Amino acid sequence: MAKNKASKKSGTGKKSHEPGAGGKATKADRGEKAKKPKKSKKSGKAATSRGAATGDDSLAPVPVTTAGSEDWTTPPREALAVGDGFRIADLDAAATPGWTGSRAEAEARLAALGEELSELQERLFAEGRSGGRRAVLLVLQGLDTAGKGGIVRHVVGMVDPQGVSIRSFGVPTPEERSHHYLWRIDRSLPAGGRIGVFDRSQYEDVLVVRVDSLAPLEEIEGRYEEINEFERALVERETSIVKVALVVSPHEQYRRLRERLERPDKYWKFSLGDLAVRAKRPAYDEAYQLVLDRTNTSWAPWYVIPADNKWFARLAVAELVVQALRDLDLSWPPADFDVAEATAALDAQQDEPV
Ligand code: ADP
Repeated sequence: MAKNKASKKSGTGKKSHEPGAGGKATKADRGEKAKKPKKSKKSGKAATSRGAATGDDSLAPVPVTTAGSEDWTTPPREALAVGDGFRIADLDAAATPGWTGSRAEAEARLAALGEELSELQERLFAEGRSGGRRAVLLVLQGLDTAGKGGIVRHVVGMVDPQGVSIRSFGVPTPEERSHHYLWRIDRSLPAGGRIGVFDRSQYEDVLVVRVDSLAPLEEIEGRYEEINEFERALVERETSIVKVALVVSPHEQYRRLRERLERPDKYWKFSLGDLAVRAKRPAYDEAYQLVLDRTNTSWAPWYVIPADNKWFARLAVAELVVQALRDLDLSWPPADFDVAEATAALDAQQDEPV
């Protein structure tokens, strides 16, 4: 496979990942404390940049999380976008593109973002309850041990489970196999007001299926455009799509698999099939490259996340999801009843109304 250097700028003006970087991990990459002059920081709590939500004014805009934002030198969406010439095989999976903070700072920001995420999700849910059809779909792709499960637990787990629908896609069942490959995807899409999470997705049908020749090549070749159109229709139906590819280095993958073999509490996560997939890494890199080259659309762009540092991958995904929700500019749905009338009716039921 050609080892091109990734270009710094894409045609759309987005920055691509830094290429391999020759193993020059920064302190932040290694999870060490950054030694740099520190600005005063509001720890933990989300600070606001849009005017404080004062008192219990519940209709104030959601405060944008500023705690730790200065540690992003490039906004996450730009830092993690797929630029022209980007080569997944050249990615330094230990890098933390755009982020200069330490692991501890990333964890503090993740906690602060959790508050915003939770508030935004509740607004989205409320909107859905009022008939709104907007939704957000997080598509998680990555090889075994890339950390998809950890994202679900540590990022998606920060919000009210009622508002989330999580679907994982494994080897198709006989019923799924009897349908078009998008059938099981279509029926798993999040309803209005929900955050949907796909742990693996329609992309398996151009990844494992391509690598293992599970369908005729010409059929697979037609799927990229089909998926683009499927996603375009979904976006037109007001579902925002956040597509994330988590990339773990072969060495870190080895370490994580080894841990599964060393710890009886992790045996259940291990399967011999994981070793077979691992042995095909170059073919998977090529299949992922085709996915990025052909399905990185303006309506559903890909974000590639170096995932050797779990703390970085979790922060990065949280930032992307929060940003997708911010873009919806969510407010609380107005009452569809007369509030004064309802209050009077309630008070009438009470001996000592307030
Ligand atoms: P995970 O490894 O994500 O924890 P599983 O152990 O259920 O979950 O593995 C899912 C497996 O299903 C993966 O090896 C994946 O490649 C495979 N798979 C997913 N979709 C398809 C598909 N459309 N065709 C064939 N295999 C698939």
